[in-house]
Amino acid sequence: MRLVFPPVPALFFALVLYTLARLTFPIGMSHSVFAGIVAGYVAYDLTHYYLHQGGTPSIDYFRRLKTYHTLHHYNHQQLGFGISSKLWDYPFGTLIPENLMPRGYK
Ligand SMILES: [Zn+2]
Repeated sequence: MRLVFPPVPALFFALVLYTLARLTFPIGMSHSVFAGIVAGYVAYDLTHYYLHQGGTPSIDYFRRLKTYHTLHHYNHQQLGFGISSKLWDYPFGTLIPENLMPRGYK
């Protein structure tokens, strides 16, 4: 039911990730790494929210993502975990096969 991560637990995870970045990299680089993590997560969360609440996307890429993500939620819950792209579904073997995609999907 929840589309975006709740803020209070997010602060906990952010603190852990920031600490790991600070322990791993010099201070200037750790801030850049942490900013990249936060920016990537926000992009992921906004994409997920848009796919659920944004109506029918006018851009073909997002229309295909919405179809793919809808299939993940309602037809193949163990496949299709990619939100902003299918990239990680390839190495993890969770790509929804073409033969399970709706007619006309490309
Ligand atoms: Zn979703």
